[in-house]
Amino acid sequence: MPDTDSPAIPLLVSTRNAHKVGEIRAILGSRFLVCDLSALPDMPDIEETGETFEENAGLKAVAASGRFDGWVIADDSGLEVDALGGAPGVRSARYAGKQSDDQANNFLLLRNLEGVRGKARSARFRCVIVLAKAGEKLGAFSGAVEGTIINAPKGTGGFGYDPLFVPDGHCETFAQLGAETKNSLSHRARALEGLLGWSGWSAL
Ligand code: IMP
Repeated sequence: MPDTDSPAIPLLVSTRNAHKVGEIRAILGSRFLVCDLSALPDMPDIEETGETFEENAGLKAVAASGRFDGWVIADDSGLEVDALGGAPGVRSARYAGKQSDDQANNFLLLRNLEGVRGKARSARFRCVIVLAKAGEKLGAFSGAVEGTIINAPKGTGGFGYDPLFVPDGHCETFAQLGAETKNSLSHRARALEGLLGWSGWSAL
């Protein structure tokens, strides 16, 4: 893990999702100087053509790292609902269609879970972070958090499916629990723990 006394390491997150960058910045703290794709205005959108979170995170990280002189990470993440065979999974962002937004995705999820009760509404958020440099993938780190999908949205914090997801051991959704609690136990926090533990940092 980068030492807290060393100067902060510049780190590009290959995303235009301000919520993801905000969470990653808060979780990593002062050891990294986190920027996003606004630092690469000419970077074209990367199509997420992979079948897995790791493939998609790899596509995003490697492409951006060919244009950025330094460390790059990409986060690919989503919600897996057991009663729906793991959907929406890698299609979480576009569950209700290519142009869909969080509200439409949440609405469709609730509709598809009508009639599913109690423990059968189990789900998890999964995140894979890929680290890349100079066009090369250096590592992949994954994290997950188990929970349950409730019947109607609750709370105003977070993003995506947060208003529907109650993590195990809690009585409120990620959108109600607030950033500090979410960032202490989320799939993203757990994947970033792996990144911080990457053996390559010690050679810096
Ligand atoms: P990606 O940009 O392809 O990784 O898609 C991520 C999508 O998964 C988001 O648009 C959300 O729908 C969902 N998602 C990922 N992480 C979270 C989270 O922390 N809270 C809520 N939804 C999330």
